[in-house]
Amino acid sequence: MITINQYLLATSLEEAYETLVANKKNVILGGMLWLKMGKQAVHTAIDLSKLGLDQITETDEYIEIGCMTSLRQVETSRLLQEHFDGIVANCVKDIVGTQFRNVATIGGSVFGRFGFSDVLTALLALDTYVELYKGGVMPLEDFVNAKRNKDILVKVMIRKSDSKASYHTQRNSATDFPVLAVAVSQADEGVKISVGARPHKAKRAYEAEALLQGGLTESTIEAAAQKVVEELDFGTNLRAGEAYRKQLAQALVKRAIDEIRA
Ligand SMILES: Cc1cc2nc3c(=O)[nH]c(=O)nc-3n(C[C@H](O)[C@H](O)[C@H](O)COP(=O)(O)OP(=O)(O)OC[C@H]3O[C@@H](n4cnc5c(N)ncnc54)[C@H](O)[C@@H]3O)c2cc1C
Repeated sequence: MITINQYLLATSLEEAYETLVANKKNVILGGMLWLKMGKQAVHTAIDLSKLGLDQITETDEYIEIGCMTSLRQVETSRLLQEHFDGIVANCVKDIVGTQFRNVATIGGSVFGRFGFSDVLTALLALDTYVELYKGGVMPLEDFVNAKRNKDILVKVMIRKSDSKASYHTQRNSATDFPVLAVAVSQADEGVKISVGARPHKAKRAYEAEALLQGGLTESTIEAAAQKVVEELDFGTNLRAGEAYRKQLAQALVKRAIDEIRA
């Protein structure tokens, strides 16, 4: 069981950050749904909920999602349904249930960098950045692969484009963790393929993407789907074996690419 010694309702990001780094047992709270499953002895739990970071907004270049935005807000956001072929809104809809999504935050979902993450898989296939209080703005992919540092994820920024996109996931039963998750997008710079829940955290399949540079035909799509399972590592856990995940990956990648070329 998690235990919490002190609670801070932060009045500024600066106060939250100074408190976070003051003691290695201090933590930022998102919706606490993942945190509460652990056994951590937390010294000070830092709550960001009064900092106005629960909004989804649009600028000229980006759709921005504040870290305390709930997954339910993401799912029901008109902006996110209308942009990126709706994959950001859609990718959360199978996560547990509505009450759960009312509480889970985008900040906790991205900062957690979970292997099973639907959210990371979809965001990696788009031109996504994170803004960290100390670390500044960086591409999501760099953040996902960086060493874990104490910092505050302030917001997620997705560059707007006319990209086509598709998201597919396979679950053993509705609301369970995904067995595999695939997101594909196509913008001016080419096709992006992201595969998560392998069961490792989401990764881009760059070699497969390169095979699609000449165009989306039956044979390039087939070759790209095959390349995905050669270049990415797949594994076994209690939900599925490696061989099954590889089969699924090929099928879901093909399905997703077929959708964006339709
Ligand atoms: C039973 C269960 C089933 C789930 N199923 C799925 C699923 O199928 N698909 C899926 O994608 N996800 C799934 N999740 C993950 C879930 O959607 C959330 O991503 C997860 O609960 C974390 O979000 P949270 O708001 O609860 O974060 P918390 O539990 O509060 O925090 C998680 C971590 O992030 C840190 N943190 C939170 N916010 C910030 C911030 N702004 N800056 C810095 N650090 C921060 C916390 O300190 C902690 O280390 C599941 C989780 C649970 C508990």
